[in-house]
Amino acid sequence: MATQANEPIAAGLTDVGKVRSVNEDSFAVDVRLGLYVVADGMGGHVGGAIASRVAVEAILEDMNETAQGGASVAVRLGRAVARACVRVQERGASQRELEGMGTTVVALCLRGASAAIAHVGDSRAYRIRNAHASQLGEDHSLVSEQVRAGLITSAQAAESPYRNVITRCVGFEDDVQVDIAEYQVFPGDVFLLCSDGLHTLVGAAEIAEIVHQNPPAVAAKRLVALANERGGDDNITVVVVAVPL
Ligand code: CA
Repeated sequence: MATQANEPIAAGLTDVGKVRSVNEDSFAVDVRLGLYVVADGMGGHVGGAIASRVAVEAILEDMNETAQGGASVAVRLGRAVARACVRVQERGASQRELEGMGTTVVALCLRGASAAIAHVGDSRAYRIRNAHASQLGEDHSLVSEQVRAGLITSAQAAESPYRNVITRCVGFEDDVQVDIAEYQVFPGDVFLLCSDGLHTLVGAAEIAEIVHQNPPAVAAKRLVALANERGGDDNITVVVVAVPL
């Protein structure tokens, strides 16, 4: 497919890391739909990998079917994530060894000057603008809630033994609460989605610098390599979407 001059340039990369034997992360990059997803699965021997893949495929299918729908993109994206949750649960109930599997989801839908983001769990979306990275939305994690409640500092959160505990995910509950938000897009903005395997090892300032200096495919490779250099203790997934100037 030929690239339109003003279409975003996007790249995604996932890596098992240096410690785990299975990659439970999944991602999707669909420039035609303007849809980008990262999911980080958990549960059982093979459940995590299946949960994240089922969720990503369900979201792509749903957004493809409702591409011309009446509701706002953010609302449709939120519904797609909620429906993905049902699909993960159904799949989990169909096989004993998949019981209790779940996944985080962060999904971005770019349409013209609008970016809709839906997320559940601790996979993150960042926007890099003027070489500065801002996290869009808040992690659904125990430490993030403790920071917001003033119980611990961000520095303590980064060192906490509970930093991997998430408080919401797709698949465990019947009716998951999906955070949705819409942002105005400026020319030159870069969006980055990632699993915690990246953001626990690579800080926002470093992400901003690497993304600012490299095209998406190179930035994704460098970020994964940096997380691996620092131990790569989890699966690492990154999707970078650059809006042209
Ligand atoms: Ca992870």
